[in-house]
Amino acid sequence: MTCRLLGLAHRRKRKAQQAKRFGLPNGEPDLLLARVMANGFSKAAIHLNSRGLEQQRFHARAAEATRARFGRRVFLRGVVEPSNFCRENCHYCGMRRDNQSLDRYRARLDELSELLIHHRPTSITDLNIQTGEDPVAVRETVIPLIRRLRDQTPLGISVCLGTLKPEMYDELQAAGATIYIMKFEIADAALYRRLCAPGCLEERLEHIRLLASKGWKVSSGFIAGLPEQSMPELLSNLEVARELPIVGCSVSPFIPGEATPLHDAPTGDVELTLNVMAMLRLMRPDWVIPAVSALNLAGPGSGYQRGLRTGANLVTMNLTPSGIREDYLLYKRDRFIMTEERILSAIEAEKLIPSEQSLSDFYSGNEEKNVSAAALA
Ligand code: SF4
Repeated sequence: MTCRLLGLAHRRKRKAQQAKRFGLPNGEPDLLLARVMANGFSKAAIHLNSRGLEQQRFHARAAEATRARFGRRVFLRGVVEPSNFCRENCHYCGMRRDNQSLDRYRARLDELSELLIHHRPTSITDLNIQTGEDPVAVRETVIPLIRRLRDQTPLGISVCLGTLKPEMYDELQAAGATIYIMKFEIADAALYRRLCAPGCLEERLEHIRLLASKGWKVSSGFIAGLPEQSMPELLSNLEVARELPIVGCSVSPFIPGEATPLHDAPTGDVELTLNVMAMLRLMRPDWVIPAVSALNLAGPGSGYQRGLRTGANLVTMNLTPSGIREDYLLYKRDRFIMTEERILSAIEAEKLIPSEQSLSDFYSGNEEKNVSAAALA
């Protein structure tokens, strides 16, 4: 064998070893990431601050990693928000229980079913059902809604309902939901406590692991640019995400919510958020990473599209009926609503294409692929 071939074989072997070490799909670690991971996340801080041309190149690498795994397709999901009641009191969220200025609602099951079964946009393949932490709405509305959707539509079903009793997770799964979105929000336990994020961090992480052990495909997420969040604290989100049994993760810029203790804090920096997204993508080329609508608030006019340009491959359009969605107050009353028209034009502008395969089908297909890859190893 020539020296060149020996060198190539050696490099391939090293790549495979790195892939194994970092828990990445065989042969696909980004070398930048490999260096970052080998030297610890403190070395990655340099990328958090990149701007200008250097930043564009960094984001392009993240986008390339996405294209290599997913091609140009982007998953299209709808979201409905059947309840804005919440028993939690997170400092960064307008739906916190202490916000008395909010009109609380629980949407009617029949209206939501009619809307989603007969009048949903044709482009969506999946639906996410999202509420504040409200077990009453889960029992009375969400579970029956999932059953109806399962019976009468081909939609893949995700839920984002907070920390619930294990029996309730089972009921949701039996009804037909397959993907659970449970964001850990803040990886630093002290900051998590200070901002009164849901329950406690350890419990949140335990529930993520529990859901994955029960066969859910779990997606998580965290917030970038919170007040008092240091760079090491921000980077610790990547470390926590990396250790979790999840299939996707979001990064949301901090948006100061109306009627919250943080209402006058500065908005999270969109550049910082996008840089963290790029790092997340390079860390896990195989994860589904959404472009979150809050990117539009942190970076008016371009934030959302830049999220797609940084390797996001999931978009979500809001289907909550107008008239109640104004009270789903994650941040401010002037929510930037992602309609089908806005989403499709953002995808087209970035030369991407809507996926015809649903996210839930993708995950089950992916599982088969991973199993066969393992069988070949
Ligand atoms: S972030 Fe979630 S759990 Fe916290 S107050 Fe808002 S809706 Fe409730």
